[in-house]
Amino acid sequence: MKGMNNFRTISQIITPQLVIEGAGVLLRRSFAPHPSNKYDPFLLFDHFAFNNPLEGPVRGFPMHPHRGIETVTYMLDGSVNHRDSLGNAGLIGPGDVQWMTSGRGILHEEMPRRGESGNILGFQLWVNLPAAKKMGQPRYQEIKSSAIPLIEKNGATIRLVAGNFDGIYGPATEISASPLYMDVELAPASKFVHPIPKGHAALAYIFEGMGEFCGEAIQSVSMAVFNDDGEKVEINSETGVRFMLIAGAPFKEPIVPYGPFVMNTQEEIRQALADLRNGSFVQ
Ligand code: FE
Repeated sequence: MKGMNNFRTISQIITPQLVIEGAGVLLRRSFAPHPSNKYDPFLLFDHFAFNNPLEGPVRGFPMHPHRGIETVTYMLDGSVNHRDSLGNAGLIGPGDVQWMTSGRGILHEEMPRRGESGNILGFQLWVNLPAAKKMGQPRYQEIKSSAIPLIEKNGATIRLVAGNFDGIYGPATEISASPLYMDVELAPASKFVHPIPKGHAALAYIFEGMGEFCGEAIQSVSMAVFNDDGEKVEINSETGVRFMLIAGAPFKEPIVPYGPFVMNTQEEIRQALADLRNGSFVQ
């Protein structure tokens, strides 16, 4: 029943597709940048897991550019070794988040490494930037696991990366899309309700177990897309479930994606390619 009790309804359930990116990295991709901008302000969601034999050998993402977007890397197991054109270098370890705002341009390398378990499990979300900030200064927020609030409430264990939960704020701040990004684990026979502003895009990436998302039974691994019709989401689980809850304010601007660039016009894409060729991409 649409909009009943201000609860949102589900508009789409996406089964992630296996795709190959970078130097042969096999990913589960829910969606990628597209001119339809259906998940505005979100552009892409990838889930990478290396647990032989399915994904094969660990490969990575050698030096590549980005312009006009933010990339959010969240690791649960293993790590990603990264370095970039600004001189940053480091390891994104288990539980850590890297929130990278490319602005006008960065070049970076992202190389996954196995952890003690021998596995790699992580996620990358791309968030759009508004036209006015696409050519801004690049910025990195390196968020260590210990800086992410861990909240326990009524059978829910929440790691809050960005946004507000019961007056607690996640450490990723000053993001144009006003995002909510949290990792939620529900114990068996528990229920979770969270407000999401009307009009904001909302997604749940279900990667373990199963639950009822606003009345629809959804099993891992799936991306659930909520309609923007209500002001809260409700998730119930009999057997336990773990998901990422992601929400943000849409920019409602046209987008022109081209590989690692997402701009607003074709001319801006031509400019990005010209800047790369003539060496002025990174300043
Ligand atoms: Fe990248």
